[in-house]
Amino acid sequence: TIPFDIQAIRSQFPALHDAQHPITFLDSAATTQKPLAMIQSLDSFYRQHSANVHRGSHQLTAGLTQRFEQARETVRQLIHASSPKEIIWTRGATEALNLIAQSWARSTLQPGDEILVSELEHHANIVPWQMVAEQTGATVVKIPMKPDCTLDMDAFHQLLGAKTRIVAVAHITNVTGTRNPIETMITAAHAHGAIVVIDGAQGIVHETVDVQALNADFYVFSGHKLFGPSGIGVLYGKQALLEAMPPWHGGGKMVEKVSFEGTHYTGLPGKFEAGTPNISSTIALAESIHWLNSIDRQGAECHIHALRQKALDGIQDIDGLRIVGLQADASLFSFVVDGIHHQDIATLLDEQGVTLRAGNHCAHPMLDALGLTGTLRVSLALYNTEEDIERFVAALHKACDLL
Ligand code: PMP
Repeated sequence: TIPFDIQAIRSQFPALHDAQHPITFLDSAATTQKPLAMIQSLDSFYRQHSANVHRGSHQLTAGLTQRFEQARETVRQLIHASSPKEIIWTRGATEALNLIAQSWARSTLQPGDEILVSELEHHANIVPWQMVAEQTGATVVKIPMKPDCTLDMDAFHQLLGAKTRIVAVAHITNVTGTRNPIETMITAAHAHGAIVVIDGAQGIVHETVDVQALNADFYVFSGHKLFGPSGIGVLYGKQALLEAMPPWHGGGKMVEKVSFEGTHYTGLPGKFEAGTPNISSTIALAESIHWLNSIDRQGAECHIHALRQKALDGIQDIDGLRIVGLQADASLFSFVVDGIHHQDIATLLDEQGVTLRAGNHCAHPMLDALGLTGTLRVSLALYNTEEDIERFVAALHKACDLL
């Protein structure tokens, strides 16, 4: 890996060099800008290589199938899964969580069983559990959050019991950047015979993930937050769990033999990949990961933490400004300014070319617990610069002076 060099990194992101529409992009937790390697992969796929995978016998298909499966191997290495069979392509983190709910949970849960879900979750890690609870008679139980926006671990240990079947928790939350103690939670849940589902949508971007060391049962993430294209995501599951699970979607590619008397499903990972997959995005995501692997990621995180501190220092003198649940060494922070609506500030920042997220961040329960209807969120990526922070700080002062 090459030592972290912000100019070299930034030169890889054409969207950040649009002279017509220069932006200060501080919304990378929603989705990231894209590196050239990934853009070129998509471009060359559609220029040269359009074909289907796993079907037919012509050379294009054979070559493409190989690259498609190599991409799976790239993801396996990224998260250190023990086999590529444990990597299932989905549309994103949301679809992966729904797959676990509708396959593992729906076929396993009994009336009275409990699904423990943290109060810090994105709606994607709440609603699928509510849906399967309704289908099976199970109950969704909240693991409460403390006022500092970390999980109440005493409450968690008390809630764990014989009825607990699933613990669903984010690796890193998207509202405050809280890093949950997933290692402790996995060990404790396993001691009660429960499985643990980790929403890695934010965590995979900022940490090295080793699913075997974690002993996670399921770990999910989206490609588009990891510098890849939208519409592709990953479900990691332990092989024994995935093997025992019924398929979710039915169709081509997930079958051995279909007849009107009955159908035999294929093995992993195909069993969960009905229909033509998102071939181009799968291959392009692998390119993003190769690109990321070539970077000094520790250096990148230090860069991000330093920028975040600069932003926090720059805005602390604003009247009525409150950081919501400040976490050490996160890549993002949320804030409100008392007496000014978050959306009004976001609009004035947007007019000055500063792009950030205002609203509830798809986390109604967490915002409710904080007694807020929304926050402003600054989320950073490795391509942000000191100038981005200076523009943000100046623009926020100006907006608050005007409002
Ligand atoms: N979980 C978390 C923590 C997220 O930040 C997001 C995206 N905002 C999701 C889940 C859902 O990801 P996607 O919309 O890509 O499926």
